[in-house]
Amino acid sequence: MKRILLILLLFVGVFTLSSSNQSYTPELIKKRTINVIPLGDVPSQMLNDITQSIKSFYGFKCVIQNVVDTNITLLSANEENYVAGKILREYISLDYYFIITNISIVDKYDELWEMWGLAYCPGPTAVVSFNLLDDDGCSNEVLTTRIIKVTLHEIAHTIGFKGHCTISEKCFMNSGSSGLRELDKEDIWLCNSCKTKLERL
Ligand SMILES: [Zn+2]
Ligand SMILES: [Zn+2]
Repeated sequence: MKRILLILLLFVGVFTLSSSNQSYTPELIKKRTINVIPLGDVPSQMLNDITQSIKSFYGFKCVIQNVVDTNITLLSANEENYVAGKILREYISLDYYFIITNISIVDKYDELWEMWGLAYCPGPTAVVSFNLLDDDGCSNEVLTTRIIKVTLHEIAHTIGFKGHCTISEKCFMNSGSSGLRELDKEDIWLCNSCKTKLERL
């Protein structure tokens, strides 16, 4: 039962920003520079691949920031995972942040349901953990492709894309509710319906 709940929570998380004076209009968001923060041990090639994919898909400028070592204030009760919502709140400011971490992220302080990513919808921050994305011992190449799909998915939520794709299993705005097999069916691609939805924001 726990495994089922875990998978259901993998992709579905979006956060509503309630305590900020800044309004995150699509016009403002589309002009942004994204600060990419490695939280923990993140290979530099992976960081480059992430920033390149954000730039080429959305056209946003990206700046890779210094590595942040373990931040104990963000840990969950068992001190082994980060609480995804705490990470999002930690980086709320006038700038935009994308946090990538090798540590698992969970949805609640005292729960162990791990997620791939979480984002404000719309809002200034998104986080992706790649800890679960190579659970099946995949190659580095497959891992990188998976991270890019989850990254672009979460960035779309920050622009204001609500919900998930029901049109094409190849679209990266699918919910991911069936786990890695579903993720691997996706391409680094948006179906026409999701593309139009995003462009109209
Ligand atoms: Zn989603
Ligand atoms: Zn779609």
